[in-house]
Amino acid sequence: MYQTTYHRASSVDEAVKLLSQADDAKFVSGGQTLIPTMKQRLAAPSDLIDLRHIPELKGVSVSGTMVRIGAATPHAQVAGNEALKAVCPALCKLASHIGDPHVRHMGTLGGSIANNDPAADYPAAMLALKATIHTSKRDIAADEFFAGLFEIGWAVGLKYTEGFTRLLPTSLTVAAMAISVGLLAAAMRSLPLGTAYAIWTGIGAVGVAAFGILVFGESASPARLACIAMIVGGVVGLKLVSG
Ligand SMILES: Cc1cc2nc3c(=O)[nH]c(=O)nc-3n(C[C@H](O)[C@H](O)[C@H](O)COP(=O)(O)OP(=O)(O)OC[C@H]3O[C@@H](n4cnc5c(N)ncnc54)[C@H](O)[C@@H]3O)c2cc1C
Repeated sequence: MYQTTYHRASSVDEAVKLLSQADDAKFVSGGQTLIPTMKQRLAAPSDLIDLRHIPELKGVSVSGTMVRIGAATPHAQVAGNEALKAVCPALCKLASHIGDPHVRHMGTLGGSIANNDPAADYPAAMLALKATIHTSKRDIAADEFFAGLFEIGWAVGLKYTEGFTRLLPTSLTVAAMAISVGLLAAAMRSLPLGTAYAIWTGIGAVGVAAFGILVFGESASPARLACIAMIVGGVVGLKLVSG
């Protein structure tokens, strides 16, 4: 691992401030994904901002059929929460099957969702339950949050299909296309057509461009990065003006 500076944040505001002050900081929750990635030198953040000691990010609260789970809540606490078991036992069962006891006591819901791995358990549950993801900046419907990911997945997959001649990449690409379009359709239930489609294509365009730079070594010239930043600005602006 490279040298990094550790910070223990005690509030969301402090965590956000620390993030903005550092060169290349990353939040760390359970560290179950990030620390192995750092050990393999696939990530080398200048600063690590620990979110595990922020009271407002911890715990499960249930009010009627509304459930709120703090981002820094470990999987084991979701699995064992009696109030949650009464209204949504499937979510407790799902959490109880994640990894092994160590992963369940350290790994968090927020880390799993932020990590945005389509093979992980929570993202699928968030979609099925029509959850809303609350961030320090905005609230995002789960279908909107994950739709762009599959858009990136199929666009990247397309490169590996070699003109649809390779069976596995072709099957995965077609599946990601179907899921991506399905999620777009779901997002359109709550967003105007132009906003949902622009966000979907915008996230896809930015994600694929970032993948090209990081994985395929494509150009990261200032002009190219500025153009990508304009797409991000446009997507965020569209969402803000659409309410
Ligand atoms: C052996 C093993 C088995 C596993 N098995 C499963 C499994 O069966 N099913 C499954 O779904 N998952 C599994 N996982 C993944 C596990 O659920 C992790 O907990 C999860 O992927 C990441 O959560 P974390 O809290 O450890 O996040 P971290 O590793 O701390 O962070 C992951 C990423 O999310 C960001 N981040 C973390 N918290 C926040 C936040 N609150 N806000 C914004 N960004 C944040 C970090 O900056 C980082 O980029 C497994 C992991 C391991 C090591």
